[in-house]
Amino acid sequence: MTDREYLNSIRIPSRENPLRILMSACLMGIKCGYDGTANGQYPSALKFQEFETARIIRFCPEEFSFGSPREMCDIHGGNGMDVLDGKAKVLSDSGVDWTDGMIAAAKKMLEIAREENIEVAVMMDMSAACGSQVIYSGNRFSPNKKYQIGSGVCAALLIREGIKVISQRDYASLEILYSKLDSTHTIDKSRIDHHEIAWYKEYFNV
Ligand code: SF4
Repeated sequence: MTDREYLNSIRIPSRENPLRILMSACLMGIKCGYDGTANGQYPSALKFQEFETARIIRFCPEEFSFGSPREMCDIHGGNGMDVLDGKAKVLSDSGVDWTDGMIAAAKKMLEIAREENIEVAVMMDMSAACGSQVIYSGNRFSPNKKYQIGSGVCAALLIREGIKVISQRDYASLEILYSKLDSTHTIDKSRIDHHEIAWYKEYFNV
């Protein structure tokens, strides 16, 4: 089932039985970013606060393992799935191996998802923990910084365990979710997901 097929198949929630959504805490304005900020403001994610039919469960996996503020980290030698398989590492920007801490954070996030019976996750793209579409390949502060298609470690574990993860930049998918949460919401069919934008197609030659 594609992401959009899944989202279209989601039940219509109510105030009494809201949709259970796991979100990267920073997307809800929590200052859990590496630099003690919320990593900017993303109206597409903050909009979820408007819906009485949504129950938002917020979690920051990196803060769980490394505290805030902290160093930035990225995945070296693969993507989040490769980290889970022991084929790639998570390094802080000063080169400290954070792989074990990140895997512990991913397991905690999965535990929360299961406890809360999460129906969908909305997570911050590009993050070595929460990314779901695009992440950095190696250190993002390198003068030769590169991107790769793939997920961060925590998103990878959720996806592997069957939980649907979309990013705050998957605007077409978010439109479907908004329409589930509010029957008066008209889907904006001009919106597209992150993997459909011109930059993505050009950069990855897809
Ligand atoms: S680990 Fe995830 S929730 Fe925490 S700051 Fe990074 S992107 Fe946001």
